[in-house]
Amino acid sequence: MKQQYINGVWCGAVNGGVWPLVNPATDTVFAEVPYGDGADARAAIAAARAALPAWSAATAWTRGDILRRAADYIRLHVEAFAHDMVLESGKPLVEARGEWLVAAGLFDWYAEEGKRAYGRVLPSSRADKRMQVIWQPVGVVGVITAWNFPAYNPARAWAAALAAGCTVVGKGSEFTPHSTMNLTLALVEAGIPSGVLNMVNGDAAAIGDEMLGNADVAKLSFTGSTRVGRILMDGASRTHTKLSLELGGNAPVIVMDDVDVAKVAALAVATKFRNCGQVCVSPQRFYVHRTIYDAFVAAVVERVQGIKCGFGLEKETRMGPLINRRQQQTVIEIIEQAKSEGCIVVAGGEVAEQGGYFVTPTIIAVEDAKTPFLKREIFGPVMPIVPFDTREQVIEWANDTEYGLAAYVCTNRLQDAVWLSEHLEFGMVGVNEWAPHGIEAPFGGWKQSGIGHESGPDGLTEYMEKKLISYGGL
Ligand code: NAD
Repeated sequence: MKQQYINGVWCGAVNGGVWPLVNPATDTVFAEVPYGDGADARAAIAAARAALPAWSAATAWTRGDILRRAADYIRLHVEAFAHDMVLESGKPLVEARGEWLVAAGLFDWYAEEGKRAYGRVLPSSRADKRMQVIWQPVGVVGVITAWNFPAYNPARAWAAALAAGCTVVGKGSEFTPHSTMNLTLALVEAGIPSGVLNMVNGDAAAIGDEMLGNADVAKLSFTGSTRVGRILMDGASRTHTKLSLELGGNAPVIVMDDVDVAKVAALAVATKFRNCGQVCVSPQRFYVHRTIYDAFVAAVVERVQGIKCGFGLEKETRMGPLINRRQQQTVIEIIEQAKSEGCIVVAGGEVAEQGGYFVTPTIIAVEDAKTPFLKREIFGPVMPIVPFDTREQVIEWANDTEYGLAAYVCTNRLQDAVWLSEHLEFGMVGVNEWAPHGIEAPFGGWKQSGIGHESGPDGLTEYMEKKLISYGGL
């Protein structure tokens, strides 16, 4: 059984608990993992607190060397790690492999970026005074992450926090703990000192409560649903724990009338059904100009017929299952809601026969842009398509959501590209681009999609405090 990692030791849960790990493609248990609670988090926080002075005093070069070796270890073991990820997450092997390589890239990038935490020297208004601003690590950081990207989600927070000189207590999702454990293994093999990186698995609410209530935790970084983000904001208000929140999304895609329909349809389908639609920046509400609407719907329907659903280790598989039975039921319930609201399911919409938590790739034609189901984050293989007539109309619909993570625009007209991208109320906008984010760029949401940023230079300073030092009497 793979273990938790606390204070330099691989260990089971303090309470002896175990959790059955289920393959979502087959609905069968294939392993067990420790399943702890607040006691495990407490021990991990104590270890992280004890390790903080030495780690934060180490140079960014020393820290960077360890992160770079962890990246090398991931690349060397990418096949085994990807195999483990497929079993627990259901995603196709090619996607799992790609995700691990991005995780390695994050470690590499922050190994260098840690060296660039430059401060500032300010011209003073007084002749006898000098002022400087420096960055220092925030302290012990708790990191709670979701299952949809079980390596990428923790890697982007751990890499930045460790590069900044913080020590970390990580908790991945109980549905994908093997990937969190493999990420930990890479850092252990790279020589991370005891206590600097700790990893627990178990009762999410108990571990979250301990992280929020424990005075030794300076910051909590959370990637997950807006619902849990709200619970954590409530808790943090009691303790003044700093928060970074990467939450849900409901991304609009605006397809103008001047595009190459076949090309955009192909890219739209490839992006929409990646990871079975379980992506926070997944293109979700497609608004397509009425003059090309029928052609676009026909093109995507034809494309989805070619998507082979199945177990991610089988070569032909292009789309896996949803993560668990609950998610499968939620997606089916959303499809039923759409039907009851007068929308037409033009492809898919069924629970696939092969066992596991599959739903077939689904295309829904929506005539009324105010249809209530469009407000929900689907997090599944469902593509609603709505016709529009003017850009003023479509921008109002696109922004009519509590979420503000990602949005997409497809057009060849410069004026529309500029006007639409500047009017979208979202943290990331892709113009003729289906992956607007990147290791080197700030990733974050507006409105109820989050607080703060991960990735890029902004991701590093999320884990640092700014300090003003003034020298007087000169
Ligand atoms: P979730 O909020 O249910 O769970 C996320 C993590 O929080 C898991 O580790 C879970 O164990 C933990 N958790 C659950 N209840 C908790 C509590 N009371 N206290 C502390 N921790 C708790 O989300 P999910 O269903 O696992 O993931 C899907 C959601 O995550 C979607 O809404 C998706 O958009 C979002 N997401 C956002 C980003 C981003 O970067 N913005 C990235 C990936 C996923």
